[in-house]
Amino acid sequence: MNKSTALVVFSGGQDSTTCLFWAKRHFLKVEALTFSYGQKHIQEVDVARAIAHDADVEWHHMDASFISLLSRNSLTDSSIVMDQQKPADGPPNTFVPGRNLFFLSIAAVFAREHGINHLVTGVSQTDYSGYPDCRDAFIKSLNVSLNLGMDEQFVLHTPLMWLDKAQTWAMADEMGVLDMVRTRTLTCYNGIVGDGCGQCPACKLRRAGLEEYLSHTHGTEI
Ligand code: ZN
Repeated sequence: MNKSTALVVFSGGQDSTTCLFWAKRHFLKVEALTFSYGQKHIQEVDVARAIAHDADVEWHHMDASFISLLSRNSLTDSSIVMDQQKPADGPPNTFVPGRNLFFLSIAAVFAREHGINHLVTGVSQTDYSGYPDCRDAFIKSLNVSLNLGMDEQFVLHTPLMWLDKAQTWAMADEMGVLDMVRTRTLTCYNGIVGDGCGQCPACKLRRAGLEEYLSHTHGTEI
C-alpha cells in the first residue's frame, strides 16, 4: 500500500471505475476528478459522482467544455453520424482530439495544488479504439512533459494499458466489483447506464469483453 494520495481521472465508465478501485487498493487515499467536455452523454457526470460517493472517494468536477469547441467529432456534435468502425485512414470520428492531453494536464495542475503526485488514468493501448492519446508512448511522453513543465515528480499510472476488455472485467471481478461495474457504470456513447444501447462502438467493445471473460471463467452466457 502506497501511503500517498492518488487522483483518478474518472469518467464513470467501465475502465476508469475499475481504475478507481485499483487505486483504492494501492493507495491510502483516493480522489477522483470528472470532466464535462461537451460530451453528448453528459449523464456520465452524475454516474461518476454517485459511484465516487458510494466508494467513499472525494469527488471533484471540472468544466472543460472548451474541448468541444476546438474540433468537430461525433461525441460532442450530435449532427455527426457516429463511425461504427475505425476507418482505414485515421481515428474514428468518436475521437476527441486533445481530450486525454487536456484531462491529464488539468489533472496534473489540480493534483499539484492539492499536494498529489500520483495520477491514474484508464487508457489502454490494447483496445484503444484508434485513439492515439490512449497509447503508452503518449502517456510516457506526457508524463515527462508534465514533470518538466511544472518541475514536479508526477507518476502517471495506467493499470489497464496492456489489458484487453476481457482482462479489465477480470480485474474488476478479482476486486469484487464486477457486478457494480457492470450495472452502474456508463460506457455507452448514447448515454445508457449498465449494458448500454448495445449498438454503439463502446457498447460492442465492452460487451465482447464481458462475453469473453464470462465464457472463459464461468462457462456462462450473458
Ligand atoms: Zn451504446
